[in-house]
Amino acid sequence: MSPRPDLGPKPRLGYSASRIERAAERRSDAAAMKALENDARARAYVIAGELIVLRKGGEKLDPLFPCAEAYALGPVTESAFLGLIDGSPRFALALDLAVAETRKSDAAFEVTDLRSIAVRGLVEPEHLPPLAEGKALLNWHARHRFCPNCGAPNTLVESGWRRDCGACRTQHFPRTDPVAIMLPVAGERCVLGRSHRFQPGMWSCLAGYVEPGEAIEEAVRRETREEAGIVCGRVTYFASQPWPFPTSLMIGCHAEAITQEIVIDRSELADARWFDREEVALMLARQHPEGLTAPVPVAIAYHIIRAWVEDGVAFS
Ligand SMILES: [Zn+2]
Repeated sequence: MSPRPDLGPKPRLGYSASRIERAAERRSDAAAMKALENDARARAYVIAGELIVLRKGGEKLDPLFPCAEAYALGPVTESAFLGLIDGSPRFALALDLAVAETRKSDAAFEVTDLRSIAVRGLVEPEHLPPLAEGKALLNWHARHRFCPNCGAPNTLVESGWRRDCGACRTQHFPRTDPVAIMLPVAGERCVLGRSHRFQPGMWSCLAGYVEPGEAIEEAVRRETREEAGIVCGRVTYFASQPWPFPTSLMIGCHAEAITQEIVIDRSELADARWFDREEVALMLARQHPEGLTAPVPVAIAYHIIRAWVEDGVAFS
């Protein structure tokens, strides 16, 4: 057997390891917030649904706008204070999608979606975590303009970190949705699946939302059994990743597969099958003889799979 391909240094996990200091204690202090907005170092990320507005100019595109320039792009529908980077205030501003679309024809800007920005490396990597923070937060606001409790319009407060209903006096806080993402393994083999929306030849971890009343380990076992018919025993946590599409938190795990037979739920998966470790190594390295691939390094699935290929998994 040929030697395992060298996968090189471990790439950075996208959207994680934020340098933002959220300074949550300042969110309710109107005077402090005004001072931060007027700080000469203040900058804003401009977000319209799935789209991010970027400035052209340097080698990489620049996602940061001086606040006045950001407001000049069009009516800002919501704004939020993301925090501080080395003392410099960072905000996220929401534009209507239609306004952002009009900027696509402007030579000064690039307007594209966050997935493309991350996968193609269009901005410096340190911008991905605050972009994820801003995009997920503004998406939550866009879907919670009316009180979920009584239906009355509610109001953004706390510099973008709460909505208050004046009618029933309920406070609503931005939420993130936990998703279990897992690699079932048994010795030298693992199970990978294909979603209906994947590019041809791409295989990845299984994944699904954690349901109310469910522990992460239980979600891992349930999703693996539902999607691929595999029963899992022990589950080991690996790492997590903010996944702002729209507001998820991916919780990465390895799972001990204790049955072999795969039964695919075709409503969830296009395909699922066992792979051996050497084949998966070639997929990670993009050297597979049939062109099969694993996910891009931006995604936690790449790191979950690579950790098993390189180090195996010790279940306890
Ligand atoms: Zn209400």
